[in-house]
Amino acid sequence: MRRAIALTLAGVFLYGCEEARSAPAEVKLDTVVEKADTPNMTDEAVIRFSDILAQYQALNTRLENVAARLQMTNATLCPVTVRDAGFTVHTLTDYPERLQQVARGLLSVDESLSVRTVREGSTAARAGLRAGDKLIGVNGQRFVSGATQQKFYERAITSAFVNPSARLTVARMDASGEQTVMSFKLKPETICGYPAHVVFDEYVNGHTDGRAVWITSELMRTVEDDVNLALIVAHEMAHAMASHLELNPSDEARKVLELQADSMALVMLSRAGFDIERAIGYWSRADNPQRLSQSRSDTHPNITQRLNNFERAKAAIDITLRAGEPLDFEILPEPVL
Ligand SMILES: [Zn+2]
Repeated sequence: MRRAIALTLAGVFLYGCEEARSAPAEVKLDTVVEKADTPNMTDEAVIRFSDILAQYQALNTRLENVAARLQMTNATLCPVTVRDAGFTVHTLTDYPERLQQVARGLLSVDESLSVRTVREGSTAARAGLRAGDKLIGVNGQRFVSGATQQKFYERAITSAFVNPSARLTVARMDASGEQTVMSFKLKPETICGYPAHVVFDEYVNGHTDGRAVWITSELMRTVEDDVNLALIVAHEMAHAMASHLELNPSDEARKVLELQADSMALVMLSRAGFDIERAIGYWSRADNPQRLSQSRSDTHPNITQRLNNFERAKAAIDITLRAGEPLDFEILPEPVL
């Protein structure tokens, strides 16, 4: 269970990973739409409202699937965990006013809470929950409607999902407009509590505010391979997990934190069954869009430093796996610049 987030835009951060020092500013998707009138805007922003929403849904689904793999397999390494059943919810008010009419038709969303996405392979998917299902209640407790519905829903779900199983009741509308009330037995699981969201932005960037991870639509567009997307998501999760945002490091210390996040990310990828060799390979490729700008950055390690660090982390991971020992952050060598 994770709520759909407001469509936020993070302002201008550095190309490549840059941890936001505070929660991203709430700039609605309207801004993207307004910017579409300006001549120097990317194609991304020039698309019609419905395309934006369809893209938003598709990008979020891809990101949620990649992030979920990391969140499920690394729960024991995460200081913050949540109980999750593999679906997200939304209401019409999650969308900018100008997009609500389109959202209503395209995403079958209205003023009441409904299912936005159902993650592949999750307990919700196995039980048969579908996007568009309207939420009625959990364990016999009915959700309220109106202004406080989301808070009420979150509290009810959180307390129900503490248990090994919970019964979720929804209404599903068929093609003729007929509503059927259905009930699903879900078996929530404990996962890392750092959800990942897409933010519409023309910059290639990933960042974290310490609670959630934000990946820009442009970064997702340039990263075709899910392994590489996983590395970026895990890197941002690592910053949040290690509380890097609470530090106020010098530029040099900051570079060490970047390397530390890289090494931690590699451990998380390995635990999630991703091919870490392939993930490292992406960084050594000349066409990596993040390479060029990082080589100019004062606050980020250069590509050689990052690759060396990846190789050292990978060596430690390989030794641990060969020895059949548990893979955690303890096995990582101290990062060196
Ligand atoms: Zn970083």
